Amino acid sequence: MYGKGAARKGGKTQYTTIKVRLEPTAEQAELFEKTFGCCRYIWNQMLADQQRFYAETDAHFIPTPAKYKKEAPFLKEVDNQALIQEHNKLSQAFRVFFKNPESFGYPHFKRKKNDRDSFTACNHVFESGPTIYLTKNGIRMTKAGIVRARFHRRPQNGWDLKRITVEKTRAGKYYCCILYAYAAEEPEPVVPAPETTVGLNYSVSHFYAADDGSTADPPRWMKQSQEKLVRLQRRLSRMQPGSQNYREAVRKYRLLHEHIANQRLDFVHKESRRIANAWEAVCVRGDDLGDIARKLVYGNALESGYGMFRECLRYKLERQGKPLIVVDRYAPTARTCSACGLVRDAVGLKEDLWTCPKCGAAHRREVNAAKNIKAQGLARYFGSQERRVSA
Ligand SMILES: [Zn+2]
Repeated sequence: MYGKGAARKGGKTQYTTIKVRLEPTAEQAELFEKTFGCCRYIWNQMLADQQRFYAETDAHFIPTPAKYKKEAPFLKEVDNQALIQEHNKLSQAFRVFFKNPESFGYPHFKRKKNDRDSFTACNHVFESGPTIYLTKNGIRMTKAGIVRARFHRRPQNGWDLKRITVEKTRAGKYYCCILYAYAAEEPEPVVPAPETTVGLNYSVSHFYAADDGSTADPPRWMKQSQEKLVRLQRRLSRMQPGSQNYREAVRKYRLLHEHIANQRLDFVHKESRRIANAWEAVCVRGDDLGDIARKLVYGNALESGYGMFRECLRYKLERQGKPLIVVDRYAPTARTCSACGLVRDAVGLKEDLWTCPKCGAAHRREVNAAKNIKAQGLARYFGSQERRVSA
Protein backbone atom coordinates (compact mmCIF):
# COMPACT_ATOMS: atom_id res chain seq x y z
CA MET A 1 0.00 0.00 0.00
CA TYR A 2 2.74 2.48 0.84
CA GLY A 3 5.38 1.05 -1.49
CA LYS A 4 6.62 2.63 -4.69
CA GLY A 5 3.96 2.59 -7.38
CA ALA A 6 1.24 1.47 -4.95
CA ALA A 7 -2.22 2.71 -5.76
CA ARG A 8 -3.89 5.60 -3.98
CA LYS A 9 -7.65 5.59 -3.74
CA GLY A 10 -9.07 8.17 -6.08
CA GLY A 11 -12.51 8.98 -7.44
CA LYS A 12 -11.49 9.08 -11.09
CA THR A 13 -13.65 7.07 -13.49
CA GLN A 14 -11.85 5.13 -16.16
CA TYR A 15 -13.22 3.28 -19.14
CA THR A 16 -12.22 0.07 -20.77
CA THR A 17 -13.68 -2.08 -23.52
CA ILE A 18 -13.90 -5.77 -24.11
CA LYS A 19 -14.34 -6.80 -27.71
CA VAL A 20 -16.02 -10.12 -28.42
CA ARG A 21 -16.94 -12.06 -31.53
CA LEU A 22 -20.70 -12.55 -31.85
CA GLU A 23 -22.37 -15.63 -33.26
CA PRO A 24 -25.92 -14.48 -33.92
CA THR A 25 -28.64 -16.83 -35.11
CA ALA A 26 -30.09 -16.18 -38.57
CA GLU A 27 -32.98 -14.20 -37.03
CA GLN A 28 -30.66 -12.17 -34.84
CA ALA A 29 -28.40 -11.42 -37.82
CA GLU A 30 -31.44 -10.25 -39.73
CA LEU A 31 -32.41 -7.95 -36.86
CA PHE A 32 -28.86 -6.56 -36.80
CA GLU A 33 -29.06 -5.84 -40.54
CA LYS A 34 -32.34 -4.03 -40.02
CA THR A 35 -30.87 -2.04 -37.15
CA PHE A 36 -27.81 -1.01 -39.20
CA GLY A 37 -30.12 0.13 -41.98
CA CYS A 38 -32.45 2.02 -39.62
CA CYS A 39 -29.50 3.77 -37.98
CA ARG A 40 -28.22 4.94 -41.34
CA TYR A 41 -31.72 5.98 -42.37
CA ILE A 42 -32.41 8.00 -39.22
CA TRP A 43 -28.97 9.64 -39.32
CA ASN A 44 -29.55 10.78 -42.89
CA GLN A 45 -33.10 11.98 -42.12
CA MET A 46 -31.98 13.98 -39.09
CA LEU A 47 -29.05 15.45 -41.01
CA ALA A 48 -31.29 16.46 -43.93
CA ASP A 49 -33.74 18.13 -41.52
CA GLN A 50 -30.95 19.89 -39.68
CA GLN A 51 -29.72 21.32 -42.99
CA ARG A 52 -33.23 22.41 -43.99
CA PHE A 53 -33.88 24.13 -40.63
CA TYR A 54 -30.52 25.79 -40.73
CA ALA A 55 -31.14 27.15 -44.23
CA GLU A 56 -34.63 28.38 -43.31
CA THR A 57 -34.12 29.76 -39.82
CA ASP A 58 -30.35 29.99 -39.20
CA ALA A 59 -30.85 27.91 -36.06
CA HIS A 60 -29.17 24.58 -35.35
CA PHE A 61 -31.73 21.94 -34.40
CA ILE A 62 -31.86 18.17 -34.78
CA PRO A 63 -35.28 16.51 -34.38
CA THR A 64 -35.47 13.41 -32.19
CA PRO A 65 -35.98 9.94 -33.70
CA ALA A 66 -39.59 9.79 -32.42
CA LYS A 67 -40.61 12.30 -35.10
CA TYR A 68 -39.82 9.87 -37.90
CA LYS A 69 -41.65 6.81 -36.70
CA LYS A 70 -44.99 7.75 -38.23
CA GLU A 71 -43.61 8.11 -41.75
CA ALA A 72 -41.28 5.15 -41.32
CA PRO A 73 -43.02 2.51 -39.19
CA PHE A 74 -40.17 0.02 -39.80
CA LEU A 75 -38.15 2.02 -37.28
CA LYS A 76 -40.32 0.51 -34.55
CA GLU A 77 -38.97 -2.95 -35.31
CA VAL A 78 -35.48 -2.18 -34.00
CA ASP A 79 -34.05 -1.19 -30.62
CA ASN A 80 -35.13 2.39 -29.94
CA GLN A 81 -31.90 2.87 -27.97
CA ALA A 82 -29.87 2.45 -31.14
CA LEU A 83 -31.85 5.25 -32.81
CA ILE A 84 -31.42 7.54 -29.80
CA GLN A 85 -27.68 6.89 -29.98
CA GLU A 86 -27.65 8.05 -33.62
CA HIS A 87 -29.17 11.32 -32.41
CA ASN A 88 -26.45 11.61 -29.77
CA LYS A 89 -23.72 10.81 -32.28
CA LEU A 90 -25.01 13.38 -34.76
CA SER A 91 -25.30 16.04 -32.03
CA GLN A 92 -21.74 15.26 -30.98
CA ALA A 93 -20.52 15.41 -34.60
CA PHE A 94 -22.00 18.92 -34.90
CA ARG A 95 -20.59 19.99 -31.53
CA VAL A 96 -17.03 19.15 -32.53
CA PHE A 97 -17.55 20.59 -36.00
CA PHE A 98 -18.81 23.97 -34.68
CA LYS A 99 -15.98 24.08 -32.17
CA ASN A 100 -13.19 23.16 -34.54
CA PRO A 101 -14.28 23.15 -38.20
CA GLU A 102 -10.72 22.81 -39.52
CA SER A 103 -10.07 19.48 -37.83
CA PHE A 104 -13.56 17.99 -37.90
CA GLY A 105 -15.45 17.95 -41.15
CA TYR A 106 -19.10 18.73 -41.58
CA PRO A 107 -21.14 15.59 -40.74
CA HIS A 108 -21.76 13.59 -43.92
CA PHE A 109 -24.62 11.46 -45.15
CA LYS A 110 -24.05 7.76 -44.56
CA ARG A 111 -24.00 5.25 -47.36
CA LYS A 112 -23.96 1.50 -47.09
CA LYS A 113 -20.98 1.43 -49.41
CA ASN A 114 -18.71 3.70 -47.38
CA ASP A 115 -19.84 3.54 -43.79
CA ARG A 116 -19.35 0.60 -41.53
CA ASP A 117 -22.43 -1.30 -40.39
CA SER A 118 -22.80 -0.62 -36.68
CA PHE A 119 -25.14 0.43 -33.94
CA THR A 120 -24.71 1.46 -30.32
CA ALA A 121 -27.05 0.90 -27.38
CA CYS A 122 -26.77 2.14 -23.79
CA ASN A 123 -27.44 -0.02 -20.81
CA HIS A 124 -30.24 1.09 -18.49
CA VAL A 125 -30.53 -0.30 -15.02
CA PHE A 126 -34.10 -0.61 -13.82
CA GLU A 127 -35.42 -2.10 -10.61
CA SER A 128 -36.09 -5.27 -12.55
CA GLY A 129 -32.42 -5.36 -13.64
CA PRO A 130 -30.21 -4.03 -16.43
CA THR A 131 -31.35 -4.02 -20.08
CA ILE A 132 -27.97 -5.32 -21.28
CA TYR A 133 -25.94 -7.92 -19.43
CA LEU A 134 -23.59 -10.85 -19.97
CA THR A 135 -24.58 -14.46 -19.58
CA LYS A 136 -22.22 -17.42 -19.41
CA ASN A 137 -21.69 -17.55 -23.17
CA GLY A 138 -23.60 -14.62 -24.56
CA ILE A 139 -24.79 -11.03 -24.29
CA ARG A 140 -28.38 -10.18 -23.57
CA MET A 141 -29.54 -7.29 -25.75
CA THR A 142 -32.85 -5.45 -25.72
CA LYS A 143 -34.49 -6.69 -28.91
CA ALA A 144 -32.24 -9.52 -30.00
CA GLY A 145 -32.33 -11.42 -26.70
CA ILE A 146 -29.28 -13.50 -25.81
CA VAL A 147 -26.68 -13.43 -28.60
CA ARG A 148 -23.93 -16.06 -28.40
CA ALA A 149 -20.47 -14.56 -27.93
CA ARG A 150 -16.89 -15.81 -27.60
CA PHE A 151 -15.16 -14.27 -24.59
CA HIS A 152 -11.40 -14.18 -24.25
CA ARG A 153 -11.70 -12.25 -20.99
CA ARG A 154 -14.46 -11.29 -18.60
CA PRO A 155 -15.17 -8.01 -16.78
CA GLN A 156 -13.81 -7.64 -13.26
CA ASN A 157 -15.88 -7.11 -10.15
CA GLY A 158 -17.12 -3.57 -9.87
CA TRP A 159 -17.05 -2.84 -13.60
CA ASP A 160 -20.22 -1.13 -14.83
CA LEU A 161 -21.52 -2.07 -18.28
CA LYS A 162 -22.23 1.29 -19.95
CA ARG A 163 -22.98 0.55 -23.56
CA ILE A 164 -22.39 -1.84 -26.42
CA THR A 165 -21.54 -1.28 -30.06
CA VAL A 166 -22.37 -4.07 -32.48
CA GLU A 167 -20.57 -3.98 -35.82
CA LYS A 168 -20.22 -6.09 -38.90
CA THR A 169 -16.89 -6.23 -40.70
CA ARG A 170 -16.50 -6.17 -44.46
CA ALA A 171 -15.90 -9.91 -44.38
CA GLY A 172 -19.26 -10.43 -42.69
CA LYS A 173 -18.19 -11.14 -39.10
CA TYR A 174 -20.05 -9.64 -36.17
CA TYR A 175 -18.28 -8.11 -33.19
CA CYS A 176 -19.46 -6.38 -30.06
CA CYS A 177 -17.46 -3.76 -28.14
CA ILE A 178 -18.63 -3.64 -24.55
CA LEU A 179 -17.77 -0.41 -22.72
CA TYR A 180 -17.23 -0.56 -18.96
CA ALA A 181 -16.71 2.20 -16.41
CA TYR A 182 -14.89 1.66 -13.14
CA ALA A 183 -13.54 3.75 -10.29
CA ALA A 184 -9.83 4.04 -10.88
CA GLU A 185 -7.26 4.16 -8.19
CA GLU A 186 -4.80 6.91 -8.85
CA PRO A 187 -1.26 5.51 -9.02
CA GLU A 188 1.69 7.04 -7.20
CA PRO A 189 3.80 8.91 -9.81
CA VAL A 190 7.03 7.09 -10.62
CA VAL A 191 10.18 9.20 -11.06
CA PRO A 192 12.34 7.68 -13.79
CA ALA A 193 15.98 6.75 -13.22
CA PRO A 194 18.44 6.06 -16.08
CA GLU A 195 18.71 2.36 -15.22
CA THR A 196 14.94 1.85 -15.22
CA THR A 197 14.27 3.93 -18.37
CA VAL A 198 14.28 2.56 -21.88
CA GLY A 199 14.66 4.44 -25.17
CA LEU A 200 12.93 3.04 -28.25
CA ASN A 201 13.69 3.91 -31.84
CA TYR A 202 11.18 3.08 -34.58
CA SER A 203 12.62 0.53 -36.96
CA VAL A 204 11.18 -0.60 -40.26
CA SER A 205 12.67 -4.07 -40.06
CA HIS A 206 12.49 -4.74 -36.30
CA PHE A 207 9.48 -2.60 -35.30
CA TYR A 208 11.70 -0.96 -32.72
CA ALA A 209 15.27 -1.09 -31.44
CA ALA A 210 15.91 -0.38 -27.76
CA ASP A 211 18.95 1.41 -26.34
CA ASP A 212 20.13 -1.84 -24.72
CA GLY A 213 20.38 -3.41 -28.19
CA SER A 214 17.24 -5.52 -28.02
CA THR A 215 14.65 -5.43 -30.80
CA ALA A 216 10.96 -6.36 -30.96
CA ASP A 217 11.16 -8.57 -34.03
CA PRO A 218 7.56 -9.13 -34.96
CA PRO A 219 6.59 -12.76 -35.41
CA ARG A 220 7.33 -14.30 -38.78
CA TRP A 221 3.71 -15.23 -39.50
CA MET A 222 2.88 -11.54 -39.74
CA LYS A 223 5.28 -11.16 -42.59
CA GLN A 224 3.91 -14.31 -44.24
CA SER A 225 0.33 -13.00 -44.04
CA GLN A 226 1.49 -9.74 -45.53
CA GLU A 227 3.16 -11.49 -48.45
CA LYS A 228 0.01 -13.51 -49.03
CA LEU A 229 -1.98 -10.28 -49.12
CA VAL A 230 0.31 -8.80 -51.77
CA ARG A 231 -0.08 -11.96 -53.88
CA LEU A 232 -3.88 -11.82 -53.58
CA GLN A 233 -3.82 -8.17 -54.54
CA ARG A 234 -1.86 -8.93 -57.69
CA ARG A 235 -4.21 -11.77 -58.61
CA LEU A 236 -7.21 -9.49 -58.13
CA SER A 237 -5.80 -6.87 -60.45
CA ARG A 238 -5.61 -9.44 -63.26
CA MET A 239 -9.17 -10.75 -62.82
CA GLN A 240 -12.40 -9.77 -64.50
CA PRO A 241 -14.44 -7.66 -62.03
CA GLY A 242 -17.90 -9.04 -61.40
CA SER A 243 -17.08 -12.67 -62.16
CA GLN A 244 -17.71 -15.45 -59.64
CA ASN A 245 -13.95 -15.96 -59.19
CA TYR A 246 -13.44 -12.25 -58.62
CA ARG A 247 -16.07 -12.12 -55.89
CA GLU A 248 -14.56 -15.13 -54.21
CA ALA A 249 -11.08 -13.56 -54.35
CA VAL A 250 -12.41 -10.29 -52.91
CA ARG A 251 -13.97 -12.22 -50.05
CA LYS A 252 -10.63 -13.96 -49.35
CA TYR A 253 -8.80 -10.66 -49.55
CA ARG A 254 -11.09 -9.02 -46.99
CA LEU A 255 -10.84 -11.96 -44.64
CA LEU A 256 -7.04 -11.90 -44.78
CA HIS A 257 -6.99 -8.14 -44.35
CA GLU A 258 -9.02 -8.43 -41.16
CA HIS A 259 -6.86 -11.30 -39.99
CA ILE A 260 -3.71 -9.18 -40.39
CA ALA A 261 -5.32 -6.25 -38.57
CA ASN A 262 -6.12 -8.59 -35.68
CA GLN A 263 -2.62 -10.06 -35.64
CA ARG A 264 -1.13 -6.58 -35.59
CA LEU A 265 -3.38 -5.43 -32.77
CA ASP A 266 -2.54 -8.52 -30.77
CA PHE A 267 1.19 -8.00 -31.26
CA VAL A 268 0.96 -4.29 -30.36
CA HIS A 269 -0.97 -5.03 -27.16
CA LYS A 270 1.40 -7.75 -26.00
CA GLU A 271 4.54 -5.79 -26.82
CA SER A 272 3.32 -2.57 -25.13
CA ARG A 273 2.19 -4.56 -22.07
CA ARG A 274 5.62 -6.18 -21.79
CA ILE A 275 7.47 -2.85 -22.06
CA ALA A 276 5.09 -0.98 -19.74
CA ASN A 277 5.53 -3.61 -17.03
CA ALA A 278 9.28 -4.03 -17.40
CA TRP A 279 10.31 -0.35 -17.33
CA GLU A 280 9.47 2.69 -15.23
CA ALA A 281 9.71 5.23 -18.04
CA VAL A 282 9.84 4.97 -21.82
CA CYS A 283 11.33 7.52 -24.25
CA VAL A 284 10.15 7.61 -27.86
CA ARG A 285 10.37 10.07 -30.71
CA GLY A 286 7.29 12.00 -31.80
CA ASP A 287 7.69 10.93 -35.44
CA ASP A 288 4.94 11.62 -37.89
CA LEU A 289 4.37 7.99 -38.76
CA GLY A 290 2.03 8.72 -41.63
CA ASP A 291 4.97 10.42 -43.24
CA ILE A 292 7.21 7.41 -42.79
CA ALA A 293 4.53 5.09 -44.18
CA ARG A 294 4.12 7.23 -47.27
CA LYS A 295 7.84 7.04 -47.96
CA LEU A 296 7.82 3.24 -47.98
CA VAL A 297 6.72 1.97 -51.33
CA TYR A 298 6.02 -1.58 -50.26
CA GLY A 299 4.21 -1.37 -46.97
CA ASN A 300 5.19 -3.48 -44.04
CA ALA A 301 2.48 -5.04 -41.90
CA LEU A 302 3.61 -3.02 -38.93
CA GLU A 303 4.16 0.44 -40.34
CA SER A 304 0.83 1.68 -39.12
CA GLY A 305 1.13 -0.30 -35.91
CA TYR A 306 3.81 1.88 -34.32
CA GLY A 307 1.51 4.85 -33.73
CA MET A 308 -0.95 2.47 -32.12
CA PHE A 309 1.90 0.98 -30.09
CA ARG A 310 2.85 4.43 -28.75
CA GLU A 311 -0.75 5.12 -27.74
CA CYS A 312 -1.05 1.74 -26.03
CA LEU A 313 2.22 2.39 -24.22
CA ARG A 314 1.00 5.81 -23.10
CA TYR A 315 -2.10 4.58 -21.34
CA LYS A 316 -0.57 1.36 -20.04
CA LEU A 317 2.24 3.39 -18.45
CA GLU A 318 -0.10 6.12 -17.24
CA ARG A 319 -2.23 3.65 -15.33
CA GLN A 320 0.88 2.70 -13.38
CA GLY A 321 1.92 6.31 -12.81
CA LYS A 322 4.83 5.97 -15.24
CA PRO A 323 5.76 8.60 -17.87
CA LEU A 324 5.99 8.21 -21.64
CA ILE A 325 8.52 10.86 -22.66
CA VAL A 326 8.23 12.06 -26.24
CA VAL A 327 11.35 13.53 -27.82
CA ASP A 328 11.09 16.19 -30.54
CA ARG A 329 10.68 14.54 -33.95
CA TYR A 330 13.30 16.82 -35.51
CA ALA A 331 16.00 15.92 -32.98
CA PRO A 332 19.00 14.47 -34.91
CA THR A 333 18.92 11.21 -32.94
CA ALA A 334 20.17 9.05 -35.82
CA ARG A 335 23.28 11.10 -36.71
CA THR A 336 24.47 12.00 -33.22
CA CYS A 337 27.20 9.88 -31.63
CA SER A 338 25.77 8.65 -28.34
CA ALA A 339 29.28 8.31 -26.88
CA CYS A 340 30.79 11.76 -27.51
CA GLY A 341 27.90 13.85 -28.82
CA LEU A 342 29.34 14.57 -32.27
CA VAL A 343 26.57 15.41 -34.75
CA ARG A 344 27.31 14.12 -38.25
CA ASP A 345 25.88 15.69 -41.41
CA ALA A 346 24.02 12.55 -42.33
CA VAL A 347 23.78 8.84 -41.62
CA GLY A 348 22.21 6.95 -44.49
CA LEU A 349 19.51 4.33 -43.96
CA LYS A 350 21.92 1.81 -45.49
CA GLU A 351 24.62 2.52 -42.91
CA ASP A 352 23.58 -0.09 -40.39
CA LEU A 353 26.98 0.13 -38.74
CA TRP A 354 29.13 3.21 -38.44
CA THR A 355 32.14 4.40 -36.50
CA CYS A 356 32.35 7.84 -34.96
CA PRO A 357 35.11 9.84 -36.74
CA LYS A 358 35.83 11.76 -33.53
CA CYS A 359 35.85 9.21 -30.68
CA GLY A 360 36.00 5.96 -32.66
CA ALA A 361 32.93 4.41 -31.02
CA ALA A 362 31.30 1.70 -33.15
CA HIS A 363 27.55 2.10 -33.52
CA ARG A 364 24.57 0.12 -34.74
CA ARG A 365 22.50 2.87 -36.34
CA GLU A 366 19.15 2.01 -34.74
CA VAL A 367 20.53 1.24 -31.29
CA ASN A 368 22.59 4.42 -31.28
CA ALA A 369 19.45 6.39 -32.13
CA ALA A 370 17.59 4.69 -29.27
CA LYS A 371 20.41 5.67 -26.88
CA ASN A 372 20.09 9.31 -27.97
CA ILE A 373 16.32 9.19 -27.59
CA LYS A 374 16.72 7.94 -24.04
CA ALA A 375 19.35 10.56 -23.12
CA GLN A 376 17.31 13.40 -24.62
CA GLY A 377 14.11 12.09 -23.09
CA LEU A 378 15.59 12.03 -19.60
CA ALA A 379 17.16 15.49 -20.05
CA ARG A 380 13.80 16.78 -21.23
CA TYR A 381 11.90 15.12 -18.39
CA PHE A 382 14.13 16.52 -15.67
CA GLY A 383 14.42 19.87 -17.44
CA SER A 384 10.65 20.27 -17.47
CA GLN A 385 10.41 19.11 -13.83
CA GLU A 386 12.90 21.81 -12.78
CA ARG A 387 11.03 24.47 -14.70
CA ARG A 388 7.80 23.39 -13.02
CA VAL A 389 9.42 23.66 -9.58
CA SER A 390 10.98 27.08 -10.19
CA ALA A 391 7.87 28.50 -11.85
ZN1 LIG B 1 31.78 9.86 -30.94
